[in-house]
Formats: sequence, C-alpha cells, structure tokens
Amino acid sequence: MNMGRCFTALIIVLSLGVTNMMAKSLREHSSKGKHPVLILARDGRSDYTIVISNDASPTERHAANELRNFLEQICGARLPIVTDEQSVSGPMICVGWSRAVQRLDVNVDLASLGKEGFIIKTVPPHLIIVGGRLRGTMYGCYTFLEDYLGCRWFTPDCTRIPKLRTIKLPSINRRYVPPLEYRATDYPNSRDPDWAVRNKVNGHLPPIDEQRGGHVTYYPFVHTFNALIPPQEFFEDHPEYFSLVRGERLRDRTQLCLTNPEVIQLGIERLREWIRSHPDVMIFSVSQNDWHNYCECTRCSALAEYEGSQSGPIIHYVNALADAIRDEYPDKAIDTLAYTYSRKPPKHVRPRPNVIVRLCSIECCFSHPLESCPVNASFVRDIKGWSKVCNRLYIWDYVINYAHSIMPHPNLYVLKPNINFFIRHGVKGIYEEANYFSKGGEFAELRTWIMAKVLWDPSYDTDKAIDEFLEAYYEEAAKPIRRYINLIHKVVRENSNLHMHIWSPPTSGYLSPRIIKQAVKLFDEAERLVRHKPKILHRVQVARLPIMYVQIMRASPKYRRVGDKFVPMGYEQLKQLTDQFERIARKEGVARVREARSGVLNQWLAQVRKPMKELHILTLRNGRLIVEIIPERGGRIYRIYDRVWRRQILRVASPNDPLYPGTGGYEEYSEGEYRTPGWEETFAVEKHTERAVTLSAKLRNGLQLQRHIEVHPERPIIHIRSTLMNVTDRTISACLRVHAEFRLAPIQRTIVKLLRHSGRWVTKKLTFRRDETERQIFLREDDIPAGSWMVVDTKTGLAVVNDFSTSQVGQCLLNWCRKPHRVNLELYSPQVQLKPGQKISIDHSYTLMRVGKL
Ligand SMILES: [Zn+2]
Ligand SMILES: [Zn+2]
Repeated sequence: MNMGRCFTALIIVLSLGVTNMMAKSLREHSSKGKHPVLILARDGRSDYTIVISNDASPTERHAANELRNFLEQICGARLPIVTDEQSVSGPMICVGWSRAVQRLDVNVDLASLGKEGFIIKTVPPHLIIVGGRLRGTMYGCYTFLEDYLGCRWFTPDCTRIPKLRTIKLPSINRRYVPPLEYRATDYPNSRDPDWAVRNKVNGHLPPIDEQRGGHVTYYPFVHTFNALIPPQEFFEDHPEYFSLVRGERLRDRTQLCLTNPEVIQLGIERLREWIRSHPDVMIFSVSQNDWHNYCECTRCSALAEYEGSQSGPIIHYVNALADAIRDEYPDKAIDTLAYTYSRKPPKHVRPRPNVIVRLCSIECCFSHPLESCPVNASFVRDIKGWSKVCNRLYIWDYVINYAHSIMPHPNLYVLKPNINFFIRHGVKGIYEEANYFSKGGEFAELRTWIMAKVLWDPSYDTDKAIDEFLEAYYEEAAKPIRRYINLIHKVVRENSNLHMHIWSPPTSGYLSPRIIKQAVKLFDEAERLVRHKPKILHRVQVARLPIMYVQIMRASPKYRRVGDKFVPMGYEQLKQLTDQFERIARKEGVARVREARSGVLNQWLAQVRKPMKELHILTLRNGRLIVEIIPERGGRIYRIYDRVWRRQILRVASPNDPLYPGTGGYEEYSEGEYRTPGWEETFAVEKHTERAVTLSAKLRNGLQLQRHIEVHPERPIIHIRSTLMNVTDRTISACLRVHAEFRLAPIQRTIVKLLRHSGRWVTKKLTFRRDETERQIFLREDDIPAGSWMVVDTKTGLAVVNDFSTSQVGQCLLNWCRKPHRVNLELYSPQVQLKPGQKISIDHSYTLMRVGKL
C-alpha cells in the first residue's frame, strides 16, 4: 500500500521530449542509487513479450493493448502480445493471472485484491502486473505507466507521455487495493471513458464499456420517492400514501408516508420491477425527493421521535424493501440518502448489510477542512454516528458553488483532507458533485484531476497534482496561474472565519477588491505569456472567467443618487466586460453559470445587461416628515426622515449593496415567504399629492398589489393600506406580508415593546447568542401583539409605534440583526385561497413619539 511515491523506484534514461520539470524530478529519483534489475527497452528496441491468459477477461485484453500502445509511444518498440498457450523464450510482461505467472512460482493472493486491487512485481527478467479480473489488472497497467514511466492523462485532450528510448526498472514489489469501491465525479470533462479508466474513476456517468471494466451502475440515480410511487398515479385514490404536512396530504413537492404498510408493499413491488427491467444495475436508489415536507402523520412522527431523527422512518422503510429482495437478489444494494432533514443517524434501527447510506455534506463550509472548521461540527458528529451503524457508508460531497458555478471556489486544498476524513470514518464510496450541468466551471479540469488522484490514492500530494497539471495544461502561463491559486487559497487558509458554502455570493469576504485586483494582474501576465498559442490562451481565458464573473456581478447594478433620481453608473465598463465574458464562454460551450434554471447563459447575460434606467424618487411630506418612495423598486418606502429628531427611521440600503437602492426600507410580499412577488416590481403611480400616493402593480403570480401611503396633515404619522386582489379567473394562494426594516439607533440600544391583551406593555430585548448575527421570533395566536408594538431607542426614548388591526393579521415576525443593524416588525395576513375578484388587506400606521428614557 505504498502508492503515491511516484518515481521513487525509478531509473530511466531520458531522451527527447521530456519537460524540464520532469527531467529534474527524474534526476532526483534516479540519484537514489537503486540498481536496475530490468531493461525493458534499450535504444528504442525491446525483446519483451506481453503475455496474457488464453481466457483473459475483456479488460485484461484491453489492458495489454493499452500497455503495448503506450510503451510504443514511449520507447518506439511495439511489443508482441501472446497468450499463455504459446511458449515464450525471452523476457515477459505478464498482464493478468495466467499459467505464465503460475510457472514463475509467484505467490499472488488474487482473492485479497478484490475487483480493483493489483500487484506489480519484478521477477527478473520478467515483470508481472496481476490484479482483480474486473478492473484490477487494467488499473495495475495504468499505475505502472504512471508511477514508473511518468505518463499522465490530465484531461481527454492533455496528456504527458514521456519519450524514453531506454527504460530501466529497479526491483518492484508493489501491492495496492483502493480504499474506496466507488469513486465518482460529474464534470463534463470527466465523462470520457478512456480518461475515466486511466484515472480509475468508476462512477455511473462515464459510458465505460465492458472491455474497459464497466463501472458502478445506479438506477434511478437519486431523489426517487416520486419515481417509486408517483403521485400522479396514486394520489387521487390514495392521498394517504403521501406526506401529511400541516394537516394536509401533499400531492406536489411531497414525500412518502413511510410507515403506511401499503406504501411498503407497493415499494417492494415497484423495486422488484426496477430490478427485473434493469438486470445489469448494481445499486437501486430509494431516496427522499429533493425538498423537505416529510410526513407528519401520527405513526411517522412517533417513529421519528423514537429514533431521534427523520432518518428513522427512512431506514425502517428502506430496510423493509432491502429484506424483501435480499434472497432473490443477493448482489443488489439499495441506496438511500441522509440528507438535510434526515442527516442525523437514527438511535435504534441499523441499516441492513445490503443498504447503502449516502450522507450529504450540503450544509458544510468548504474553505476549511470538514474536521477543523467549527461550522461543520454537527456534520462531523453525524458522520461519526453513521460510521458506527452503517457498514456501507457513501458520501455525496459538494465541490463547487451552485449559485455561482463560475466563481472562484478556493477548496482545492480541502479536497484531500476531506476525502481522507471520509475514509477514516469507514466511507466506501464518494460522489463529488460538481458542474454536471455545464462546461467551463471554475478550474473544472484541474479540480477533476485532483479529485481523481486522491479518490484513488488518498495520500496523493495536492501540490504535486496542481503543479504537474498546470505545467502541462497552461504551459508558459503555469506560473502566474499558480500564483493566482496560491492567492485565493491563502485568504481562506489564513482566515478561520472566512467560511465558504455552496451558495456563497460574489460579495464573499474572500473575494475582496484587493484580491480581484491582484488576480486581474496575474491573468494579464498569464495571457501575455501564451498570446501566440491560441489553444493555451483560450484555456487561460477560461480560467479567468471566474474573476470576470465576480467583476461583473459586483459591477451590476450600481446607482448613484442625484437630486430626486437614482442615476446608473459605470454601465459602459460593465458592458465591455460582459461582452468579453460572453465571447470566451460561448467558445468554451458554457451552458450555465449556476445550477438553477435562471443560470442559463443567455438568461444570465440578459439579466446583467438589463438596461439600467433612471429611477425616480417620489416624496410625501408634512411639517415633520419626509417620506421617499421608489415606484420602480417594489414601490418601496426607501427612507423616512424626521426633521425634528433629525434622524432616519428606516434602514437605508448602502450604495455598495448590489441591489441598491432596491433593498432595505419598507417592502411587501404576496405569498408570505421572503421576497415572493411584490418586493421588486415596478409600481404604477395612480395618484400622487403632497401627502399621499396610491401605487399598484400586477404581480407575476396573477395578484394585484395596491398600496396607499398617506402622511398625517401635521403629526408624525404615516398610514398605509395595502390590498392584494386576485385579478385572474383562478384561485390563488396568497399571504400579504409587510416587511419593514427599522434602524432608529444601534441595535444594542434598541428594544421592542409589545402590547398584551391585558393592556400591559412587555419589553423584548434584542440579544444575540455568540457568533450569531441575526435572530427572529414568530408571534402566533396569543403572542400576536394586541394591535400595537413599537421599536424604542433606549437612550433617547424615541419610538416608532406600529398600530394595526388584529383581525387582519395572522402572525407577526420580529427579526433583528447586527450586520447591518436593523429590527424588522413584520405583519402577515392569514394565508388564504383568493378566489377570482377576492382581496385581502392590511391597514396599519407608524407613529413617531417619545416614550421617555428607559
Ligand atoms: Zn406518515
Ligand atoms: Zn469554515
């Protein structure tokens, strides 16, 4: 098990065509003084014969061919391939188990090598490469070419095959069995079957045929509850098969009612059908759909409660299916997910031996190794728990940013520690989910390379992987690109508080303007160094797209306030950058810049190029207040200013916020959830006087939102009446939500007071737990204030009182934050089914007053 010590046992005489770096590396190793025991080729000639068994497996035959072809490319000699039925007088390279190996009296414990392990051994003058018949012998041949002759298959179109007229080998006695039975990733560049087998990736995506040893096969791949028991087929007659959520059986975005005996029986029947119709498949996935909504029925809830996790009902269910097929199909395994709500292991039930649990790391921080980052503590706890109860634990790991897949994602140095961490916890298979949906992902080829190397050999050195790859792939531009990689990784490695998630935004701390500026310089240099090599220049430009993406995302959109307007700024520069980005992205074949549908390249380009129009500020005023409204940004109240107190009442967005000025202040939503339609649309101004305005917008969900805002003739009071109306001819589910962000004073000296039904005012302090920047409380039923609550500045006693009608409010949300400082008083109407022509309203007011020092 001594992989990864490339060249240590290597003595090769070099001739033409080897890079300087490799020559240096070879000199270093050849100086260790090992005596050559074999001379495989001398001056371009070889008297070796490749020997395979007469009944060699298709993969062993393929391995022999590959070995012959690459040896020919290396030294110029084309070796004959014969079977063990023929007698060979000269020296042999024995590929796979055969009578020839037997005659050499070499002790090979084939069974212990499994399907993929191998030995490489010199038996002078012979060399034997023998392994598992499925893929072991073939992997042994590639390892021989890689570790003893210096071959690399970096990408399907970038390889390094040294030219060595003479090949001398020292004594070799190597045995290797990979720790992972399943090694997969999904970048488009990882799907070439030759690339995949040469780098020992064996997942289901590359179409690897029988002669290349096949691969691990799945059906269906994942999130399969709906495929197993489709709601469109069963919901109408059997709603009880599906999730009960908040008292209702769900048809859409549902899961299964896993404790229902009929659902178990039906699952078994369907699973049997899957197995019968896919006889070659090894692993069948029975796993939760890709959303929440697990079943809350009494039985499912009781089981989850008993097991201390939602994984309980899932494992009980999957075990029942696994038991039912075990005797008839002993080789098949059932795979399920421990994902989001089911990530925690169950207390009592144990997955059966023919069940694979695939634990998903989706919530984790990836700028730091899983084990060392406190953000990942609960994941570490969960994997430890699963490793104790599950004998076949797989991992679904995440290696890119899914919200901005073309954005720097400095995780190259956590790939290896994380893979090792998984293996140390008994993991047998890893799927590294990446940009499966598009070419041109950030360092797609390099990241694939590192992952393939480490998945096969967890001791593989990351720096070696990076340096060798850059040298071959970017040629003269390798050095500045190496400096760029160091630059973006140094920031996260040295800052234990710069956590990176799979949805981190382009405004993340590790992408500071200083870093971007330095990156731009390095890429300018990299491009200059290969300007006469169009193919390499294109690769460098693709590597640069992530920095351009950040520049574009940060440049767009920018407004500056001029009088009573917001005027767009820096639009020309953004346009040039976007045009250049598009040119490179199209040439590379980039289809998406994020996983979601909105990430389709054309759609994203249209979005960032959206013409930026001037925005108008509409003002209401009395002797005391100035209220500013932006109709084109959700009709939001952008600012309320009190001329006597001389202060802002609402949180005013920072001009650096990418959404500025369309964020902060007062906004409303039409479906209850945060930023559902209503917050960003252009509102028409129906009527505007000095103290009042009526705005309205037709929202994309078919609702019409009308808002009347009026300032009191003299006093500091603003009255707002908002109405949602269904203007379509179908029923629409609606919930009007008022989202108002206040910043009367720094959060430390702000409190909220709520009126109780007893007529008493109670005080809510706005505290935070350690490391927490935001907190919230939903107020429901008796906790809803009795029509009044207020934000108070405890230093000055200044307060904003929000009065509302309790008959219109279904719940309230109190949310506070210290980055930026703000407190939200949010009102929700009840969730209602609005029939055509029906409407719901919320009437409320804000009164500024002094409540005395507190
Ligand atoms: Zn249930
Ligand atoms: Zn972290």
